[in-house]
Amino acid sequence: MDQSSGIETPDRAPLPSVDKVLATDAARVAAERFGRPATVASVRAALAEVRPAWRAGAAVDVSPGRLAAAAAARLENEDVPSQRRVINLTGTVLHTNLGRALIAEEAIAAVVAAMRHPTSLEFRLSDGQRGERDDHVRGLLRELTGAEDAVAVNNNAAAVLLTLNSLSEGRETIVSRGELIEIGGAFRMPAIMKRAGARLVEVGTTNRTHLSDYAEAIGPDTALLMKVHPSNYRIEGFVKEVRAAELSPLARERGLPLVDDLGSGVLVDLSTYGLERERTVQDAVADGADLVTFSGDKLLGGPQAGLVVGRSDLVRRLAKNHLKRALRLDKLRLAALEATLKLYRDPDRLAERLPTLALLARPAEALKALAARLRPAVAAAVGAGYEVAVIDLASQIGSGALPLAQIPSGGFAISAPGGSGGATVRLAAAFRSLSVPVIGRIAEDRLLLDLRALDDEKALIAGLDELRTATAAEAPSCG
Ligand SMILES: *Cc1c(COP(=O)(O)O)cnc(C)c1O
Repeated sequence: MDQSSGIETPDRAPLPSVDKVLATDAARVAAERFGRPATVASVRAALAEVRPAWRAGAAVDVSPGRLAAAAAARLENEDVPSQRRVINLTGTVLHTNLGRALIAEEAIAAVVAAMRHPTSLEFRLSDGQRGERDDHVRGLLRELTGAEDAVAVNNNAAAVLLTLNSLSEGRETIVSRGELIEIGGAFRMPAIMKRAGARLVEVGTTNRTHLSDYAEAIGPDTALLMKVHPSNYRIEGFVKEVRAAELSPLARERGLPLVDDLGSGVLVDLSTYGLERERTVQDAVADGADLVTFSGDKLLGGPQAGLVVGRSDLVRRLAKNHLKRALRLDKLRLAALEATLKLYRDPDRLAERLPTLALLARPAEALKALAARLRPAVAAAVGAGYEVAVIDLASQIGSGALPLAQIPSGGFAISAPGGSGGATVRLAAAFRSLSVPVIGRIAEDRLLLDLRALDDEKALIAGLDELRTATAAEAPSCG
């Protein structure tokens, strides 16, 4: 049918049938690898692609071998995973869009083992009775935070949702106007409150909230007092915040729970690692917060999870809520979380074993020395015309931890010929299109590559090599 509708000249090869293409060696190899249905579909697509030009009489190669190769290339392309490994040179260590914390080797091993075999997820080996999945991390969380009890859910947004729904449904939660945060995407405290069925009572002003504001807002419908860590901003100047330690006596006196949404969930004193000190979960518990909520994949350095630690009676109410069932963790993340928490038992080796901490603790001098060493490879990769400078940079922790903290770092600033913004954007795209994409950031028409979060130097060097080859292939046509 197809053959008859084209403009045929006697000496032109006809479009081969699907079967004819499938009979080639290349198609047979492809079918072995990708399966017959996908290969048939790909051959049809390859035929459809050349058909218009062939009909129009253009000189296209429609040999079965060429079409099979095109079909195989298409299959190869489709086979590249959608979620791919990348090299994070953005300067943001816990980059939400790049998957936040890297998991420690110990946790990876635990996940692999849990994936491959049945586990005692909800089964007590001691007496053969049904167990509770959170028991695998409850003891560790109690030990590490000093809290009475703990529960684990999907992420911190879920932890906040579960907490508010369990303790404040149909009733009021008091929050300072200075803490009504929005965190990237759809996490807005007022919206989460609404979803949880809690009524938000705002107190104070954007910049100043006093203890008396909370005290005066407490009424018969008040269910809890809440503090929220302003994770991604800081209000400076004429500011007054009521700290959890000041708020907790009031909460106690009125018989109300105090919830502290910490966000980041640091379990160690970051100043030990040369960073700014961030309030820890232990601090929040010691300050008298009845429940503390935090993420598993921010500074804690584990898998995505939301953790709630605090008073046993309140944690029980969360655990009994039907929402918990919808928000619970699976065996893989519980395995990763348990293994990650265990690393905290040996603080002396933590910075070696926990990738997040290892990356954050790297001295700027070491990063600058690394940059100096890699500079020739970067210059060769981007090609003549681009200027590659080794510069001081400032990394961020990311994911709402110490939003203003700038960690001295080192890396590259690459300027395009003539300072062209378009060329910089194209270069950033070329780095993104490598087999292992390299993600930097553009500032003032320069491509900045911050080495702080580089987790695999060999992979970067291989990427630079790949880019150099691509640039060299392109160069002659650009003059
Ligand atoms: C990050 C953050 C959240 C949301 O945590 P996820 O784990 O991303 O769901 C909630 N509250 C605060 C204060 C945060 O910093």
